[in-house]
Amino acid sequence: MSTPEKPAVALVSGGSRGIGRAAALRLARDGFRISFCYRSDEDSAEQLRKELADIGVDSLAERVDVSEAQAVRDWVTRTEREFGPIAVAVTSAGITRDKPLLMMSDEDWHQVVDTNLDGVAHVCRAVLFPMVKRKSGSIITLSSVSGVYGNPGQGNYSASKGGIIALTRALAKEAGRYGVRANAVAPGMIETAMTDALNDAQRERSIAAIPLGRFGSADEVAETVSFLASEKASYITGSVLQVDGGIVL
Ligand code: NAD
Repeated sequence: MSTPEKPAVALVSGGSRGIGRAAALRLARDGFRISFCYRSDEDSAEQLRKELADIGVDSLAERVDVSEAQAVRDWVTRTEREFGPIAVAVTSAGITRDKPLLMMSDEDWHQVVDTNLDGVAHVCRAVLFPMVKRKSGSIITLSSVSGVYGNPGQGNYSASKGGIIALTRALAKEAGRYGVRANAVAPGMIETAMTDALNDAQRERSIAAIPLGRFGSADEVAETVSFLASEKASYITGSVLQVDGGIVL
């Protein structure tokens, strides 16, 4: 439990931007100290550290490629050594390399699967042992509606995000008896750098498929992460919460 005297620790992969950044700030407001990693954007990482410091929250920021298992294990070990036990882990690091499967290069396939699926597995496996030992923890993976329904032009991404759901459910079944919960959040179209790449026609088509008639915000996804991390979700594990404005894919 997080108390003002002894704040619990939340680990966030891909925390420098977008949904990971919003989740880090939200969890900081919930009373967690934050350890986040990012791939390359030092300026965004430094900016987040400043914002966390402004609200009185300590943070660790590390440049870690989640597709490298040992680098992730080292990050988790350093976090526990410097900050203490990790109570919550959020896996937000993710990329897209969209192309129809017929035109997709091997590299595009592997980069996406290595980062999105292997990367999530690396974080989950690294935090699992200490959480199981302490009989407590909440793991929140970022999937996507693309992983629930499959999305044309995103075969690599859909496969990685569907894999994340299966991994999260298997993890929930393995770790539940040790007091560790695992849930996936599946966002729809969210305003971040990832969706900035859409052109106007793609954006209009997407909005037409969203009953709520707009893209969501990273803060709206972060609210769901905060809920799943909290005691309010103490009986929820193995679930997939869609935060998607009702999108029809
Ligand atoms: P973003 O591009 O804004 O941020 C991605 C973050 O991941 C950055 O901090 C980046 O440094 C980090 N990252 C990327 N590759 C990494 C690697 N190899 N190692 C470590 N960090 C790495 O993306 P976002 O829109 O905030 O997306 C966050 C998560 O939510 C992703 O997993 C994404 O697939 C998922 N998602 C996003 C949307 C959306 O509409 N934005 C929809 C559904 C799911």
